[in-house]
Amino acid sequence: MTLEVHQFACLDDNYGYLLHDHASGETACIDTPDAEAYLREASAKGWTITQIWNTHWHPDHAGGNEAIKAATGCTITAPAAEADKIAGIDRTVGQGDKVALGGFTATVIDVGGHTNGHIAYYLPEGSLAFVGDAVFALGCGRMFEGTPPQFWASLSRIKALPGETTLYCAHEYTASNARFALHADPDNAALRAYADEVADKRSRDEWTVPMRLDKELAANPFLRADAPDMQARWAKNGGKIGDAVATFAALRSAKDNF
Ligand code: ZN
Ligand code: FE
Repeated sequence: MTLEVHQFACLDDNYGYLLHDHASGETACIDTPDAEAYLREASAKGWTITQIWNTHWHPDHAGGNEAIKAATGCTITAPAAEADKIAGIDRTVGQGDKVALGGFTATVIDVGGHTNGHIAYYLPEGSLAFVGDAVFALGCGRMFEGTPPQFWASLSRIKALPGETTLYCAHEYTASNARFALHADPDNAALRAYADEVADKRSRDEWTVPMRLDKELAANPFLRADAPDMQARWAKNGGKIGDAVATFAALRSAKDNF
């Protein structure tokens, strides 16, 4: 495989990603939290930035667009629904659109909820997806703009990807997500094992991102809002048996106040 992801920490708790196709030499910035860090990391790798792919408009995702474009002349692809809030856009995209990097193609997935127009980029050939602030390890983004039905539909599109898909999210929030997850789903053995692993990694200052989708499906409480045992457990707190949206909404608001 000639597709390479270079991951680095930037700002307080963001992850930066450069996606590089060795055959064509193309390099895409996945979001632009910190222009200086992106330019530095690209030059350390010997890569020339040719594109930016934005997931949503928040400044820790699109704030470096103009500086990186000024330095490299790259083209910027961004969510159509947030075009008025993102600088330097060359192309807007939405659900189902294709974005090319050399010979590789990403499919755009609508994952609105954290923000209304939030999108993810899925590369089946690399078995990976950049999910921004839609899904985190053992958590999901805060619902700043969207609605529970919208956010649940978005998470369902992520859930439908192949289990072996690697998810690259934008923040290291896993330790605090794990604390809520254990509160939300205390009898889940897969979650307990996962949380132990997270505590271990964080004690050594290691990253817990990226993560594999199948592992999230078994342990991430927000992705389990359609599971009968979660719905039963959360029925007292606004969840509802047979209702994934109500259960997701109950979990999301409980996490906000946790
Ligand atoms: Zn955000
Ligand atoms: Fe963010």
